[in-house]
Amino acid sequence: MALLEIRDLHVSFHTYAGEVQAVRGVNLTLEKGEALAIVGESGSGKSVTAQAIMRLIPSPPGKIKRGEILFDGNDLLKLTEKEMFRVRGSEIGMIFQDPMTSLNPTMTVGKQIMEGLIWHQRISPSEARQRAVEMLRLVGIPSPETRINNYPHEFSGGMRQRAMIAIALACNPKILIADEPTTALDVTIQAQIIELLKELQKKTDTAVILITHDLGVVAEMAQRVAVMYGGKVVETGTVEEIFYRPRHPYTWGLLASMPRLDLDRKQELKPIPGSPPDLLDPPKGCPFADRCPYTMHICNDEMPEVSEVSQTHRVSCWLEHPEAPSVTNEPIVRI
Ligand code: SF4
Ligand code: MG
Repeated sequence: MALLEIRDLHVSFHTYAGEVQAVRGVNLTLEKGEALAIVGESGSGKSVTAQAIMRLIPSPPGKIKRGEILFDGNDLLKLTEKEMFRVRGSEIGMIFQDPMTSLNPTMTVGKQIMEGLIWHQRISPSEARQRAVEMLRLVGIPSPETRINNYPHEFSGGMRQRAMIAIALACNPKILIADEPTTALDVTIQAQIIELLKELQKKTDTAVILITHDLGVVAEMAQRVAVMYGGKVVETGTVEEIFYRPRHPYTWGLLASMPRLDLDRKQELKPIPGSPPDLLDPPKGCPFADRCPYTMHICNDEMPEVSEVSQTHRVSCWLEHPEAPSVTNEPIVRI
């Protein structure tokens, strides 16, 4: 049994203009200890999927319309708020793009790590304090015994993200969800945080869901990738499958827009022309049809079914149909 299995998840948001169908039938699995990257442009539904796992969709205006999120076999969508509070505290941890918005500015960093431990692990304050020092050391904060008494504003951006990771991992969760964890940081600090996450994932055997639009980070850290577009997962596979043998035209576009070290600067970035579908009125066929260079009649009329390329590789595209014309100009990408 997978550690986490998302089945047919639908999430919508009410707006003045109507209902935005942000997530439209997402299926995903996460195995114990693995790192899965969810990639896609902003608005593709990746953060909303993560928030749904944590049951953090603001409601209203948001609503989980349909689906199941099985964690260790139990549907998280059926838990009471109290049971979910326990899951958030000790089973699934989450870190966000901007730690300043999720750290409490009025509480010391140490207290914030200790809080979860005291609530969820029922350990004494002195044990919790010791564990908080250990956690700060684990995430690479220098002199943790004194730093534990600092407030978030006394930490640099990189240190705040490290503190967030310490809070998220303090109770030994089975899953860590990292939503664009390095986007707000400068490049050197980004690399350090990714290195840290990689190290911690190995050391603690925590499964990681990494949400990012940065394919460099994916290659660095994930074993498996899910590509999202227009509220749907359009392709999933191992890192090797997605980078070397991608099958979906959107994935080809994403890879072509990725900076490459082996090309000269002038030709390296090729953004995908056009814009994502309007999720107030989503297309009935393939969500990528408006931007895809290979669109056929059927693409506009019918949603492509999921084809199994290998045991680990799945793609939703009509080009996989046995009668579809063959397309050969997919990019070859080196990672
Ligand atoms: Fe392009 Fe059609 Fe495949 Fe969609 S289903 S990605 S429009 S070829
Ligand atoms: Mg996001």
